[in-house]
Amino acid sequence: METKHTILHECFCPNEVRRAIENDEFVPFFQPLVTLCTGQLAGFEILARWRHPELGMVPPAQFISIAEKEGLIGSLTKRLLSKVFFSAKVIPYPLLIAINISPQQLQDLSLPKQIEDAAATSGFPLSRVVIEVTESALVDNLDSAQTIAKGLKSLGVKIALDDFGTGYSSLLHLQSLPFSELKVDRGFVSTMTESRQSRKIVAAVVGLGQSLGLATIAEGVEKREQAEMLMWLGCDLGQGWLFGRPVPAEDLPAVIAMPRERIHVGDSQYLWKDISGCTSPSQRLAQLQAIYDGAPVGLAFIDVNLRYVNLNERLARMNGASVEEHLGMTVDEMVPELFPQFEPYIRQALQGKAIAGVEVTKSVRDGQVARTLLLSYEPAYDEAEEVIGVSVAIVDITERKQTEAALRESEDHYRHMVDLNPQIPWVLDPEGNAIEISSRWKHVTGMSLEMYQGRGYLDAIHPDDRPRVEDVIDQSIKSGNPIDVECRILASSGEWIWIRSRGAVRRDQSGKIVRWYGSADDINDNKRAEEALRRSVEHVKVMSPREIEVLLLIASGNSNKIIANQLGISEETVKGHIKNILSR
Ligand code: C2E
Ligand code: CA
Ligand code: CA
Repeated sequence: METKHTILHECFCPNEVRRAIENDEFVPFFQPLVTLCTGQLAGFEILARWRHPELGMVPPAQFISIAEKEGLIGSLTKRLLSKVFFSAKVIPYPLLIAINISPQQLQDLSLPKQIEDAAATSGFPLSRVVIEVTESALVDNLDSAQTIAKGLKSLGVKIALDDFGTGYSSLLHLQSLPFSELKVDRGFVSTMTESRQSRKIVAAVVGLGQSLGLATIAEGVEKREQAEMLMWLGCDLGQGWLFGRPVPAEDLPAVIAMPRERIHVGDSQYLWKDISGCTSPSQRLAQLQAIYDGAPVGLAFIDVNLRYVNLNERLARMNGASVEEHLGMTVDEMVPELFPQFEPYIRQALQGKAIAGVEVTKSVRDGQVARTLLLSYEPAYDEAEEVIGVSVAIVDITERKQTEAALRESEDHYRHMVDLNPQIPWVLDPEGNAIEISSRWKHVTGMSLEMYQGRGYLDAIHPDDRPRVEDVIDQSIKSGNPIDVECRILASSGEWIWIRSRGAVRRDQSGKIVRWYGSADDINDNKRAEEALRRSVEHVKVMSPREIEVLLLIASGNSNKIIANQLGISEETVKGHIKNILSR
């Protein structure tokens, strides 16, 4: 661990610094650089420390500027570098080392040679060396800076622009040297979770880096929220206390060997995968694309001007045009007849209101069935929480609607049938023997009077149901309670038909049971309808509302973790939903 800095209020005099260089009192410390989306070590930045014989460890703020003013920075760096490369032998491929260079050293044309020689003493490959320069280095003498940068580049050394966003920021600087990395200044990172301004700047720097093909490194990452946000913005590397403080060379092996699945913040530790969700923006993009393409719903992302920015095949097909034909077009242009129905919801979503379960019916065109669509609208936010568009999900529920309608029809049919076909009245004696059954019984079952008399009617009942029916009848005969039983009977057609038979007692004046009067109703259609519904529900595998919610949140660019938080479910459950959606 880093030794505590001595807090010094007085300044050192130039001679003290000079003497310290001669005594070789400056030592390199190594601070981890970490790949944000994996948590893996990517290298170290070298930070100078003065191991003062009386005062202990002195930070660079106390001596770098003196060394620069006194023209000593060159020799300080030289001494430091020989120690750096000696210690760097334990740093394995492909880890990098990043070395800080003062602006005035970019005027020293021998710099590339110095670095080459220093690296050669330990055989450390120059392709794994990064030189960090600040923008101020580019202001004074650009010509020599360019010559030196060219020299470094030809050795394979990379150049990073340090403290970007502070001081002399100019986009021109980015072009003046062949940079391969951009370091986001600590000042922005430390405030980015609270200050929208800082967040915007960080997002802009990362975006700039991406569009120029430069790797971006965020300095001063102290909190997991910052790491999360940086990762989400697409920043490549992070450096800061969250990942490790600068350590002396003797601690390097331990830091390198340290498992990186866990990171420690104060007394707590986190699993890296919990922070990262292990999805970089490009991975997420691929995941998103897969969901877009594979989802059993139409998906579209619409910008604030109501133009299609992204959509999947299915939605394109619903609108009767190709994906390409949609891109850049407005909703109004693509579906003029439906637009008046969609517009109010899109506008509300652009105001930040999520709307789910809007049913829209597409009018019938010649020979076509009217389609019923179920729509949901979810606002999508940028990292500054401004609405940048709307995610739309559309499920075609026409089939489900048809099933529901068919079911209603069959129920109607059943009611009609009952109306038209009177029930089958029956009369039993007190012992449960058939005295009379309507001729419909004969018609349905094909049984003759002789066959059903006595307890003969029970022979028409399905063997599986018969014991239950006999039981019900016996119970009622004993208790006098009404009979009510459902069972299947064998029709003369050979089919089993469901009936419901209900009856009640008639007593004489003394209260003695004299007769059972009742009737059997054909409930077959109803049973069939129930069965059909059960099957159709299984069959029409529409997405559950929860799955649609998950899908929308993904489509708005949220991480699994954020989705889990928003819906109050675990990340595992979110993953399960995604798996289900994709497996359809
Ligand atoms: P820098 O290049 O911007 O280095 C990053 C500074 O941020 C380091 O300060 C580092 O210890 C500190 N830092 C890293 N992570 C965190 C964090 O999470 N929170 C906070 N609060 N700070 C963090 P340090 O070591 O005091 O160095 C200060 C500056 O001195 C460096 O700023 C660099 O400009 C300069 N410097 C250091 N070593 C050398 C060197 O060998 N040569 C030259 N020319 N300049 C050097
Ligand atoms: Ca630096
Ligand atoms: Ca810096």
